Amino acid sequence: MSKIKTKQELENLRESGKRLARVLREVAKAVKPGVSTKELDHLSEKLIREGGDIPPFKDYVPYGAKYPYPACICVSANDEIVHGIPGERILKEGDIVGLDLGLSHNGMITDAAVSVPVGKVDARLTRLLDKTKEALWAGIRAAKGGKRIGDIGAAIESVADREGFGIVRELGGHGVGHHVHEEPYVPNYGKRGTGPILKPGMVLALEPMFNLGRDTVRMMPDGYTIITEDGSYSAHFEHTIIITEGEPEVVTAS
Ligand code: MG
Repeated sequence: MSKIKTKQELENLRESGKRLARVLREVAKAVKPGVSTKELDHLSEKLIREGGDIPPFKDYVPYGAKYPYPACICVSANDEIVHGIPGERILKEGDIVGLDLGLSHNGMITDAAVSVPVGKVDARLTRLLDKTKEALWAGIRAAKGGKRIGDIGAAIESVADREGFGIVRELGGHGVGHHVHEEPYVPNYGKRGTGPILKPGMVLALEPMFNLGRDTVRMMPDGYTIITEDGSYSAHFEHTIIITEGEPEVVTAS
């Protein structure tokens, strides 16, 4: 497994990203009060398999996990930051929900996430959603060939600092493509000009997670769901990008 993907691998990755964006858009449209998180999982699996593709999160065993991940999508509501397991929970008006999905097409995996409101939500939550998305795009713009991993984190962090949001520090972006998680790790904070150099052909998933309250997090007893320690609401956005000589190519943008 090399960090720099071949031309053919990048072709398959682009198609993978396009398909993932389509599925994620459909699943986001299905979010409304009264829908269970399990229904969102069934929908994402159906749409991925209809296209002849594979949901790579299903049965994936992340480092340190005690059992394989049991669903296709992660659905994380309110104070849940990431890795919420779909189940009987019913979404209600005023919730915010993060949808994190992977897709494998011809062996190439892409990874993307959006956070969306359920019906009408508080203005503070709308701002949290808008600014976390803005931070993702600030990170993407900073991810130019020849720059460093720390430039991405610094760009993301500056948005959270300006807004007074907590930044999740235990989790971050990562290489992706042949596997769900590859090197390098991409923290959502950092110093400009530090860390590994970004080289054209590298594929990264950038994924800021911002909290309305403090930075600190806690793991739920299910061994997957990460929540904010102070109970504050959290948002998460993610895209898979290809590093180029200039601005990166965002393969999961719809
Ligand atoms: Mg990811």
